[in-house]
Amino acid sequence: MILDIKNLHHSFGEVNAINKLSFSIKQNSIVSILGPSGCGKTTLIRLIAGLEEVQTGEIFFENKIVANLKFNTPPEERSISYVFQDFALFPHMTVKENISFAASSKKNKKQLIDQVIQLAKVEKFLNKYPHTLSGGEQQRVALARSIAVQPRLLLLDEPFSDLDTNLKREIIDDTLHLINSLDSSAIVVTHNAEEAMFLSDEIIVMEKGTIVQTGKPQDIYFKPSNVYVASLFGEVNIFESKIQNSKCDTPLGTLDTKNFKDNQLVNVVVRPEAIKLNVEKSPVTSPNSGVVVDSKFLGNNAIIHMTVKDSINNKHHIHSKLIGDFLPDPASSVSYSLDHNHIFIFPR
Ligand code: ATP
Repeated sequence: MILDIKNLHHSFGEVNAINKLSFSIKQNSIVSILGPSGCGKTTLIRLIAGLEEVQTGEIFFENKIVANLKFNTPPEERSISYVFQDFALFPHMTVKENISFAASSKKNKKQLIDQVIQLAKVEKFLNKYPHTLSGGEQQRVALARSIAVQPRLLLLDEPFSDLDTNLKREIIDDTLHLINSLDSSAIVVTHNAEEAMFLSDEIIVMEKGTIVQTGKPQDIYFKPSNVYVASLFGEVNIFESKIQNSKCDTPLGTLDTKNFKDNQLVNVVVRPEAIKLNVEKSPVTSPNSGVVVDSKFLGNNAIIHMTVKDSINNKHHIHSKLIGDFLPDPASSVSYSLDHNHIFIFPR
């Protein structure tokens, strides 16, 4: 293991930023810490980097303890480097000087600097100062500087959040290839589930200072452990229901259930992509149909707003997400089928 976190707990006054966290990270892996603002991601990264002193728990780096209550190995002795949201480049140094400074203690300095410059694609602005660079360029320099120290572990705290979509894709892609080409591991902190899935071998989902689920991107996506995790991947339709005879009623029809007792109250989460609309016209009275409120074309998919009725004729507003350009007219009736891979039932 490159990193073992054992029972880490950290408070700021009355706020428990980190709550009894334990997890491990394998050598040469990329792990994302995924969660909304305020769930404790930055505090965790700062503790791992050594920028915050441990109050309770232990941190092991390559099987050696680096921090506990009594003892805190300084950041520069941890073979960890980090890129924060604000990049924190040295303003009085050029790009090349920023990178050279990071590599200053290395034996193969010249060769290393040349390699880093090429990998991070910063050749074009080597003699510029940070304040004259765009956000994307500064991002590349920050990455270059962080790998120039040849860290065993790279920590990236929301490094892409200020970049526009196209630039973000390009830099995330380059960052992934760059990390894969190094003999190191990385932890990427993000609130963006798509970014986490794209970058990492494993995702650790955090909520209010605790870990709620850990797994491969496909496990987290297809087997979320609760409503919170299921909702991280985009908006969802949520219905309250009750189990009866291993079934539960929803406005989209009756669903079969497993592993629930009768009368258990549940939340049923239905991703918009679970509701597949039929292109053929359907009569208003047909079962499994709804009335279109609006259709919005979003490029590689479309969102259809619809009204469906439950068994006692109460109306519910739902969203269906489709690939393609089927955009039914408002007030038309459309029938649907359900893809159960995108439907989850959780106890309430
Ligand atoms: P963001 O993505 O917004 O940075 P985060 O998930 O990284 O959020 P943290 O910055 O770790 O979360 O904050 C966790 C909690 O600890 C929050 O409630 C925050 O207000 C609190 N907190 C963080 N740093 C401090 C501090 N230095 N003093 C007091 N409270 C703090």
